[in-house]
Amino acid sequence: MSEIKRVGVLGCGLMGSGIAQVAASAGYETTVRDVSKELLDRGRTGIEKSLAKFVEKGKLDATLKRLTFTTTVADLKGADIVIEAITEDLTLKNALYKELDGLCGPATIFASNTSSLTIAEMAAATKRADRFVGLHFFNPVPLMQLVEVVRTVTTSDDAFKRAFAFAKSLGKEAVAAKDNSGFIVNLLLVPYLLDAIRAVERGVGSVPDVDKAMQLGCGYPMGPLALLDFVGLDTTYHIAEIMFKEYREQRYAPPPLLKRMVLAGMYGKKSGKGFYDYSANPPIVTSLGL
Ligand code: NAD
Repeated sequence: MSEIKRVGVLGCGLMGSGIAQVAASAGYETTVRDVSKELLDRGRTGIEKSLAKFVEKGKLDATLKRLTFTTTVADLKGADIVIEAITEDLTLKNALYKELDGLCGPATIFASNTSSLTIAEMAAATKRADRFVGLHFFNPVPLMQLVEVVRTVTTSDDAFKRAFAFAKSLGKEAVAAKDNSGFIVNLLLVPYLLDAIRAVERGVGSVPDVDKAMQLGCGYPMGPLALLDFVGLDTTYHIAEIMFKEYREQRYAPPPLLKRMVLAGMYGKKSGKGFYDYSANPPIVTSLGL
């Protein structure tokens, strides 16, 4: 079992920046790639702010030293594991995997942070289907304890064990999941979030009342609509489309209201507006004309 020392991360958005942060914090030399310097700068600023909350200055500087930000895919060729956290789009992901497959050494493991695609359909685009796993982190990565470690039909025992041990070395709790779209958590969570939107669409309750009901009635730390804003409405829409295509079950179908909001650029917290408007402090409920 070859040791993992260097980590590559693809995508420096919400998840990629968090994954890069926890990898560097755990002592790994980490290189993170995104498509533009602006996106990398934004990710780096987010990482600095987040680290400042958890660690003192000396440790923060040491962690930042282990992080390299790049727009060049080839800079990841020395990584022992590459974790991909780019936009939830199979064509984009597979184009990147194909490029990287020719660059990385034979021992390198490819790991996707996908929320809804199957690992098999990405592994098949490479010549390392046996060294391909899912490593599904949760948002915000530095705070959330869980990583789902996913093996598909082609994943070797060695690659699965190395990926599982790697997830634990980040200070996370790992669970093993089979390669079903949504794995364990999203298989159960996505229909619940979509049902919350359908409840608002049908006028069962207002946005704050649906959130309050689930928080106080079920003891959830956050209501479903606030959680949707946090996850990203665009990301959730893509996930729902993919899961609906996979299972052909109504409960995974994205509700029209979600589609309208995504078309209007209401992506949630990251764009400043979703079910709540984050330009106000504290955020106020967005008027959706319902
Ligand atoms: P995001 O939109 O915040 O970030 C995606 C980043 O990928 C962007 O910065 C984009 O510029 C970059 N990107 C696009 N093409 C690229 C390429 N070819 N090379 C490098 N970077 C590229 O999205 P996110 O929420 O971080 O989601 C990323 C992945 O993580 C998705 O697969 C998503 O399903 C999964 N995921 C998301 C969450 C969540 O709560 N948002 C949780 C778990 C998993």
